[in-house]
Amino acid sequence: MADVPAYPLTWVTDHLAVGGAPMSYAQLDSLRAQGVTAILNLCAEFCDLHEIEAAAGFEVHYLPIPDEHAPDLPALEDALGWLDEAVYLGKKVLIHCRHGIGRTGTVLNAYLLRRGLGHMGAARVLRPLRAKPANFNQWWTIRRYGKAAGKLTVREPRLEAGKPVDLGPFLADYAGLAAMAQEAAGDIPACGRDHDACCRRPLWLSLIEAVALARAIDVGLTSQVRQSVIEDAAGAAREMDELTQRYGDSHELCVSGWSRRCPLSRDGACLVFDSRPVACRLFGAPAAAQAALWDKTLEPALGELSRQVFVALAGTAVGEALPHFALPDVASGRYVSAVFNYLLALSRR
Ligand code: SF4
Repeated sequence: MADVPAYPLTWVTDHLAVGGAPMSYAQLDSLRAQGVTAILNLCAEFCDLHEIEAAAGFEVHYLPIPDEHAPDLPALEDALGWLDEAVYLGKKVLIHCRHGIGRTGTVLNAYLLRRGLGHMGAARVLRPLRAKPANFNQWWTIRRYGKAAGKLTVREPRLEAGKPVDLGPFLADYAGLAAMAQEAAGDIPACGRDHDACCRRPLWLSLIEAVALARAIDVGLTSQVRQSVIEDAAGAAREMDELTQRYGDSHELCVSGWSRRCPLSRDGACLVFDSRPVACRLFGAPAAAQAALWDKTLEPALGELSRQVFVALAGTAVGEALPHFALPDVASGRYVSAVFNYLLALSRR
């Protein structure tokens, strides 16, 4: 008979599992051995378990819910954003409360609604599991969440990304565009190598630039360096959020209030120099030449490539200009949930 693991997982999808609270280091080791790298911990009663899990090397989101209770909707939405992002990035995630029943089932049910399965589809997935809403309070939270979440209609309801989309051709086009822009900038000192003046201002990226930069970070940096980038990015993202709240979309005003460095800057050098965004490559070129290049070539081309990438990822076209993403959110991976939120907002119109 096959060995029973110290922590028997219940997989809901290839990337999402549910269960009870791990109660020993052997169980944490067992989770890791089964591929789990991230944990959504819902136990309010074990106030340091999430710290033990994080110290054991798991990425942890802590949403403390007392036994028999349900989360409030904003905290639930935050947790589901984190979960969406983790699953999208290919991590294997465990959702757990103490026994893996009511609180776990409530959050899982909400996740299934967020992914567009509707109440019937979610009920089908939950039927064979122990994890399901277990009392009126939890069930009512799901009804309220379902009303707020609406139904995702912009793509076929799927729990996960399914087959990975091949973004190679778009990234190759973007690399060509970035190289052309750099050549057009002429022989100027390169920011990120010869100086770091461009690394002291906030930067917003189109979707294609965000995807290319995120890939360069994933592929080019060791996990230790990536972790330090993510930590720096979290602080920078907070400051950018505050500036955006204060100044709205006025990027010029945000630039004047900015006090940080790019999270990809180390000792004056860019960690992803060969993949740095177009704005960094053009920094220092004459202003008039830059403005002409952006207006005539870069903005239309980046917009078109971003639209193509969006269609490839979302399976639907958009008639409006796509949002831009703050560089710290791209460096931390948080921009992925911004894309999901944008998709959800589209589906509710
Ligand atoms: S991406 Fe590189 S060159 Fe651009 S601002 Fe960040 S550290 Fe500087």
